[in-house]
Order: sequence, then structure tokens, then C-alpha cells
Amino acid sequence: MRTLIRNLGAVASGDIAAPLLDADEILIEDGLIAAVGRGLGAGAGADADQVIDAHGTTAIPGLIDSHAHPVFGDFTPRQRTMDFIESGLHGGVTTVISAGEVHLPGRPKDVVGLKALAIVAARSYQNHRPAGVKVHAGAPILELGLEEHDFAEMAAAGVTLIGEIGLGSVKTGAQAAPMVVWAKQHGMTVTFHTGGPSIAGSSAIGADAVLEARPHIVGHINGGTTAMSDPDIERLVATDMAIEIVQCGNGRAALHAVRAAAGLGGLDRVILGNDAPSGSGVIPLGILRTMAHLASLGGIAPEVAVAMATGNTARIHGLDVGLIAPGRAADLCLIDAPVGSVASTALGALAIGDLPGISMVLIDGEVRIGRSRNTAPAARAAEILGGGGPAAGGH
Ligand SMILES: [Zn+2]
Repeated sequence: MRTLIRNLGAVASGDIAAPLLDADEILIEDGLIAAVGRGLGAGAGADADQVIDAHGTTAIPGLIDSHAHPVFGDFTPRQRTMDFIESGLHGGVTTVISAGEVHLPGRPKDVVGLKALAIVAARSYQNHRPAGVKVHAGAPILELGLEEHDFAEMAAAGVTLIGEIGLGSVKTGAQAAPMVVWAKQHGMTVTFHTGGPSIAGSSAIGADAVLEARPHIVGHINGGTTAMSDPDIERLVATDMAIEIVQCGNGRAALHAVRAAAGLGGLDRVILGNDAPSGSGVIPLGILRTMAHLASLGGIAPEVAVAMATGNTARIHGLDVGLIAPGRAADLCLIDAPVGSVASTALGALAIGDLPGISMVLIDGEVRIGRSRNTAPAARAAEILGGGGPAAGGH
């Protein structure tokens, strides 16, 4: 199956080292991006099975939510909400990464139980993609009593993540440090909660604990929802750890963190998440909202904000998504300025704080939705030539 997307107005690659490509066409073959450039329709793409006319809209990689709290399937017990992942697809999110299945009613906190939950969550989402969205889950919350062989056992069973440290009985840097070493030895990607507690019974976590434990990712450096002090934020930005900014955090602290990162040349370590479902609800447009926040108020170029929500996260987690480049999974969003915006392009809209309208999302080269039912309508909309596209979402 070969699909040619033509008439693109812009291509934001997701690669922060080269965030804008000189291209107006993308060729997809068997779910992977085969080529990006100009004139493909006259060459390698001439015999495409399917042609999508982008009508001048902008292509970006499918967005990655680096911090979600799914449990099983597309239901969240925390907000009693069905289909929140499918709703997020209508906000451009094609990959979701769990920071812990913390909302499971009766979540087991003993070692056997937490290992079992992590393995079941990892495997159930390997077998099931809600609305086509790729969910990476099975992120155990660390509890006292875990030993090295427990990490080996989970890794052998397919667990690749450690949920945000601090939500369980492991809270201090000294408690976490040896477990982080074991997790890294077994190929797991580790996130540490920072800031005030999100649930009663846990305590605030500052820079000292994170610096002692050395996770891969400073979880919601702008708080979830209560942020650390500005000096603590600066101490964690001045490391080689990934810096996560979330929608359900402190908006002022997000700007402080991103400015600190820019000052140190560290924008390639900034990744974006929702931290939802949570007490703040479910936020289908949360990644787009965070991109617009940073681009309009944080001095971040809109195409760099795209990279923070795509290629940066894929690099930190070792995923084959997040870039518009040959060989990558063809997870793509076609977006434009929304109707009524002062801006005339999707990137221009982000720069002034408007949310782009989505007119098409593809996952593994397959068109999953047409016009989003959640974004404002895109001024221009991509279409599948010859008809047969998905029905437009309602408003
Ligand atoms: Zn948290």
C-alpha cells in the first residue's frame, strides 16, 4: 500500500536539529514514511494507491503524550470517562506513554501485586490500540521491598517503563537511587515525580531527591499540579536529564523551565505531556495547548514546540515515531490555522497562541480520522482524492 500526500504548505519534521523541511510531499509505503521532498508524485509516488491532497496545510508528526495515567482500555476510573484516548486522537495524539496506572481501584502496593499490574498493563496495551493510538503502559510505581530480580522479572515480561517515582512508598533519593540503577540495567525508562503531591498521603519532592536518584526524566518539572521552587527547577534543568512540561501543571513554572532550558542550549531535552487523566480531568487538546503556550509566551519557535511534542520524546523513549523522516512510522497530523484566526498557517497560529485545526490524522499510514471533532475547524482541510475518506467529525 502506497500513499502520496501532496500540496503540503509546510512540513515540521519533529527533529529539533532541522525542524522545518523543504518539502511539499510525503510518500508512505506499507505504514512507513518512504520519502519526503518535492516532485515525488512525478517519480517514486507516481503509482501510489492513494493520494491525499493536503490543500496547503501543514504536516507534523503525530503527537506524543509523555505523561498519561491510563489503566486498561479506553476508560479512566479517575474521571469515570470513556474513550478519552480516542478523544485525544482528535487532538493529534497518536502515542501515549503511561507514567503509572495509579488510578486502578485497589491498586496493589505489595511487590507481587505491583509487578502483576505492570505486566498486565504492558501486555494488554500491546494487544489493544484504542482508536489506533499506540499506548505504552505498564509503568510500575516503586514501593519499598523491590529487589533487583524484580526488575529483571518485569523486564523479561515486557515492562519498559517505571511510573513516576514518589507516588508509592519510595520517595527519597536514597530509597530510589539503587532501584533506578536496576531499572536502567534492565532497559527501563524512569520518570521521577517532582513538586507538591498530587494525592493525599504523599509528600513534596524537590531537586535533591531527583539529583540523587538520576532518573531519565524529570517528571512534570512545572508541577502536577504544584511546582517546585524556581531555583530547584533551574538545578534540574542544568543536568542531562529530560525535562517534562505538562498541561496539568503550573503555567508560569512551565515558562520558567523552558527559558532556563533555552539559556543552556537544552531545548532538545524538553518533552511535553498532559498528566491526565488526573484531578484536572481529561484534556483532549492538552498537548496542542501546551505547544501554543510555549510558542506564544515562552519564546519558542512553533516548529520547535512541535519537536518537543514529537521527536524529542521519541528519542528519550527510543520509539520509532515522532519524526517525519524515511523509515519512521507514518504517524502524521495534517493541520492548519483555525477558521477565524489572525494567522494563516498552523505554525503561525501556534505562534500567536491559537490552537491549529486538525483535518486528518494517519497512524501507520492509515487515515484514522478526518476533520477533528475537538479542534476548531481547520481553515483548509486535507482530503483523500477519489473520495472514500473518513466522515468529518461534528462540532
Ligand atoms: Zn506526578
